[in-house]
Amino acid sequence: MERLATDLVGDRAEGWDTAGRLPLDVLRELGTKGVLCGQVPTSYGGLGLSSTVNGELTAHVGSLCSSVRSVMTSQGMAAWTVERFGAEEQKAVYLHELTSGRLAGVAFSERGAGSDLGAMGTTIRKDGDTVVIDGSKVWVTVGAYADYVVVFGRYEQGAAAVLVPTDAPGVSVERVADPLGCRAAGHADIRLDSVTLPVDSLLGGAGLPVDWLVTSALTFGRVSVAWGCVGILRACLRAACGHAATREQFGSPLAGHQLVARHLAELHVAQEAAARCCEQASRCWDEGRPELVTAAVTAKHLAAGNAARGAATAVQVLASAGARDGGPVARAYRDAKLMEIIEGSNEISQLLLGKHALAVWS
Ligand code: FAD
Repeated sequence: MERLATDLVGDRAEGWDTAGRLPLDVLRELGTKGVLCGQVPTSYGGLGLSSTVNGELTAHVGSLCSSVRSVMTSQGMAAWTVERFGAEEQKAVYLHELTSGRLAGVAFSERGAGSDLGAMGTTIRKDGDTVVIDGSKVWVTVGAYADYVVVFGRYEQGAAAVLVPTDAPGVSVERVADPLGCRAAGHADIRLDSVTLPVDSLLGGAGLPVDWLVTSALTFGRVSVAWGCVGILRACLRAACGHAATREQFGSPLAGHQLVARHLAELHVAQEAAARCCEQASRCWDEGRPELVTAAVTAKHLAAGNAARGAATAVQVLASAGARDGGPVARAYRDAKLMEIIEGSNEISQLLLGKHALAVWS
């Protein structure tokens, strides 16, 4: 699968980033081969990868192109939500679609509900044998390419998720213009005006507490983003070490200057630490351990911070050679910053981890 991703992405990530578009045929092909949601069990048409193996695949894709990796994270979250909350018939239909080239995103965020997802205003209500959805979602990754969006909203006393086809009447999709990073990931704002679907679009578990429903999907996303950050760090290491080994200033390769060597050392440590933290989170996922939720936040928080600082370091090592828009370290610099915002910002992660630390250590 890594070979397939390498062949399909090749050296095209820079062009995609500059154009702000991914070719749909590449996404369909990756989707058909199961790469976009590799953890879907084989019984539903997926590759049945463990979190650990899928994590390494995610890091590989992330090292090539963070926009494609973003699609992978979103598709994986959508598939996981169906697998976790869907009834058997829903899983049989939708998971087969998501492993056959159909694309899906997940929609939590709204203008008034970013970090505070408890403030979501989107409503989902049953009306006879249909379900009606009203609301506006923002920044939905893959939204511009997606066949489906898993929309989260208020339902009865709690929350629910609905699988909404993007061509359903009442759905309008508007691409986010000029995002800072992951520019080709197809971020879109999505309006849902009295979207009426058969009641079996409502995923089981409807009426669950909002935190519970959202945390389940976000935990998958956090592990995936964290592995994506490991990929960013590997791309930065490759670029920074390659450059420092070959470019000479003051009569020796840059790597021979100790202050530059220190940058390389710090990048190496950042990658190693992030990878070990991701392995721990994936191990918790694969073994069904209760520490998973905290391990996922820890991995995402550490990996995103390391990637943001590491990418800045890589730009420093390449200097003017890294200062061209679209190049690997310039992309990494912009993409990594966004990893500190999504799936729980740095501050939200710190609040969660602070609470955990108090519970364990006080
Ligand atoms: P706000 O919530 O307004 O926060 C602004 C700042 O205040 C942040 O630094 C935040 O950490 C801080 N802050 C907020 N509350 C607290 C607090 N209690 N204590 C301390 N600090 C606080 N959403 C989706 O639903 N689906 C997607 O696929 C998706 N993809 C995205 C992709 C990208 C590239 C980006 C940028 C966003 C995406 N989002 C998506 C939205 C993303 O989840 C939100 O941007 C994120 O949750 C933060 O919300 P906000 O931007 O409204 O910031």
